[in-house]
Amino acid sequence: MKLENDQSCSWINDLTKRTNIKSINSNEDCEWLIIGAGYTGLSAARKLGQLNPNQKIILVDAQLAGEGSSGRNSGYLVDTTLNDGFSSSKDENNYKKKTDIYDIGIKSVKKFINEYQVDCDWNECGKFFASSNSKDIKILKNFSKILNKLGFKNNILTHEELKKRLGTSFYNTGLYTDGGILLHPGKLVRAMIDALPNNIRLYENSFLIKWEKKKDFILCKFDQGQVKTKKIIFATNGFLRSLGIKKNYNFPITLTASMTRPLTEKEFELIGEPPEWGVLPIRPMGATVRTTKDKRILIRNTAEIHNPFKMSKSELNKRSLKQKIGIKKRFPELPDDIIQSSWSGVVSRTRNGSQIFEKIDKNIFVAGCYNGSGIGVGTLFGEQIALKANNENTEEINIIEKRNKANLLPPRPLLDIGVKARLMYERLIAASEY
Ligand SMILES: Cc1cc2nc3c(=O)[nH]c(=O)nc-3n(C[C@H](O)[C@H](O)[C@H](O)COP(=O)(O)OP(=O)(O)OC[C@H]3O[C@@H](n4cnc5c(N)ncnc54)[C@H](O)[C@@H]3O)c2cc1C
Repeated sequence: MKLENDQSCSWINDLTKRTNIKSINSNEDCEWLIIGAGYTGLSAARKLGQLNPNQKIILVDAQLAGEGSSGRNSGYLVDTTLNDGFSSSKDENNYKKKTDIYDIGIKSVKKFINEYQVDCDWNECGKFFASSNSKDIKILKNFSKILNKLGFKNNILTHEELKKRLGTSFYNTGLYTDGGILLHPGKLVRAMIDALPNNIRLYENSFLIKWEKKKDFILCKFDQGQVKTKKIIFATNGFLRSLGIKKNYNFPITLTASMTRPLTEKEFELIGEPPEWGVLPIRPMGATVRTTKDKRILIRNTAEIHNPFKMSKSELNKRSLKQKIGIKKRFPELPDDIIQSSWSGVVSRTRNGSQIFEKIDKNIFVAGCYNGSGIGVGTLFGEQIALKANNENTEEINIIEKRNKANLLPPRPLLDIGVKARLMYERLIAASEY
């Protein structure tokens, strides 16, 4: 089996090409093995490297490090979410537990970028939840009540106010929250690669085919070699299930996004020169849309059950067309041919939207399933799973472990039928929001 990424994500193509890429091509022994080099695996490796400077630590990825979802997401670092996937949060107490985790997730990313002086187009501009359907004001009013109770500053916005702030007449109702950061996900994950301590061996383009727990070690087989490790951390997020990890608790969802080229001065003027902004949908299957520091527009309006290992060019083109229409609906004054790139990425979901953070067996650890909020939570969970695996306890681990645990999924094929039906329903009620 192979993981085949499209090479067409603007965030990744913005970065300089990395050189000196090493792959596993012999047999090795180590103390620690981390599988997956996205925010989670890179953060775990950084922490483990700092804690154990004299131990052999290997970090492996099936593709180039950071070029999975971590380098190809929408770049919203969120403190609150309206849709944790399929439904709005109704339960205030559980919602608080979630936002406590988002809060320490943001702090982890902030600490990282301050410590390593990272330039990732960090912009604390807050975020909008918006819809073209005026009836969605009801959902926003309820959401606003929860936010107020929990102390998150927010205000509801009218069509006119949204038009002024976003430069589009598309949205009829919205809510703005002060919290929330927009960033360049590719630059952030590249900085995490650059920050790896010297004692981390990074192997890329090395797909873990099979792993097996033996008496005192774990044996991992790759195409060109195998690694015997004392302890292992699985940080493969949307690919946890394919490795048989917590497979009755998580499943992959494929998202696609497109980004325009930078708008010209004239085009930017036409849309009213709005400062950088990010809009999240009110309905789970609506579009997330944002602008970037260099005046590009990103749109993500698909989420589906799909083969996580590959999306063909023709399938991607179909989704890109949907995104072209999405941009046209919002910015009819802009030319038709401004999409520069389209790409897909895989996230992991659980039934109740809860994350996975645990020791699943002696010396075997896993962190993942952040739904749409893996920038902060992935960074946090990576660092903290490393600490947990190193037998340390922290205030952050206590907060993480207070969350509701992921629920058992129905067996297949019931799961597939259920998820597909749910996605179809959500798509139907969000039809105006693509
Ligand atoms: C289009 C899109 C938009 C998103 N928008 C946002 C957003 O705005 N804000 C936000 O917070 N989150 C967003 N997300 C989610 C976010 O990107 C993820 O939650 C986050 O990247 C998870 O990080 P990770 O390190 O756990 O997993 P990943 O970044 O997916 O890393 C896992 C790595 O494991 C590797 N791997 C998998 N299988 C194997 C194997 N068998 N052997 C070796 N390596 C393997 C993969 O190659 C991959 O690099 C979005 C995701 C997508 C796709």
